[in-house]
Amino acid sequence: MEFRSGRHFLQIPGPSNVPDRVLRAMDKPTMDHRGPEFGELGLEVLAGSKKVFGTEGDVIIFPSSGTGAWEAALVNTLSPGDKVLMFETGQFATLWQELAEKHGLVVEFVDGDWRHGVDANEVEARLKADADHAIKAVCMVHNETSTGVASNVATTRAAMDAAGHPALLMVDTISSLGSLAYQHDDWGVDVTVSCSQKGLMLPPGLGFNAVSAKALEASKSNGFTRSYWDWQAMIANNASGFFPYTPATNLLYGLKEALDMLFEEGLANVFARHDRMAEATRRAVQAWGLEVLCQNPDEYSSVLTAVLVPDGVDADHVRGVILDNFDMSLGTGLGKVKGKVFRIGHLGDFNELMLMGTLAGVEMGLSLADVPHQKGGVDKAMAYLVETAGAGS
Ligand SMILES: *Cc1c(COP(=O)(O)O)cnc(C)c1O
Repeated sequence: MEFRSGRHFLQIPGPSNVPDRVLRAMDKPTMDHRGPEFGELGLEVLAGSKKVFGTEGDVIIFPSSGTGAWEAALVNTLSPGDKVLMFETGQFATLWQELAEKHGLVVEFVDGDWRHGVDANEVEARLKADADHAIKAVCMVHNETSTGVASNVATTRAAMDAAGHPALLMVDTISSLGSLAYQHDDWGVDVTVSCSQKGLMLPPGLGFNAVSAKALEASKSNGFTRSYWDWQAMIANNASGFFPYTPATNLLYGLKEALDMLFEEGLANVFARHDRMAEATRRAVQAWGLEVLCQNPDEYSSVLTAVLVPDGVDADHVRGVILDNFDMSLGTGLGKVKGKVFRIGHLGDFNELMLMGTLAGVEMGLSLADVPHQKGGVDKAMAYLVETAGAGS
């Protein structure tokens, strides 16, 4: 690889940019995870994580990817052969469905067009039709990272309540936690799944489950065998800040720093900053004459924007041109939208001028890749940032 001066722009929707403060916090000797100092760190990161999930209940931290945390949610609460309701909102919802089926769960998978989120009316209708309560869990992806569509968790909960159905509610917040407002307790979520490398601004390697009392109760008698993923041993050890097996110690140093940063900025300000960056991005896309994949403005994601390229254009070619010329990585189209979209990540450790660099790189890339478009997207985004300057501080 030839040397490239200046910072690489990592504008994929996760892994996101790891702030220098977090990098420095991790650059320390690994400590004895059975020693007294460790217990303090453990208690601190567990307490801080609870704040971000919006829960007073247990939060479990695995040394894992998000996929591991998906698996942990299912194997701690359900039994082989159980029925679960899932929604095809995009690639990540599809992968979670496949994981569930590999475990012998029976998935009722509601078709989707990858341009909309979970439809609460559909949730209510499906649950009402399930009169004998065969469905044991409703599983949804909060922020579909493949499409840039954010589903409404509170209305899904309300639909479950309206149907009077006892299923558990499980929510994947892998790309939303720390970027979009989230309330595990208030929204009545039973298991919230997340991980480290997106809104939490850490490298990959930590998986999370936030667990309600109802989910914990289910875990005492459910039928799946598990050992590594078992909540009980985690919760028992976590009481004093320790873990049943070696945790990802240095990532926990990073987590402590990342949580400090989120609280210093203030979670409400963090979420408002994401909303503002996303709106500026959409104004640029609109000015270019291109289409945002998400079709419902109420479900626009503040984490990323998936941009449809015109017919006959390969979105991955555009990404390649931008990477070669401007050293910026944009997200590829996944699954059904491969080649049709590129994704602009505007999450995590990110500010106005990083956004302007990103959008300028896209606008120049559209020209270099001969994508039919209008100029002026960057101007529209700048105008919006000027108009709303100071709003988040
Ligand atoms: C990234 C992502 C995943 C997968 O996480 P891994 O760490 O790659 O296992 C799952 N769901 C969503 C919504 C994601 O954005």
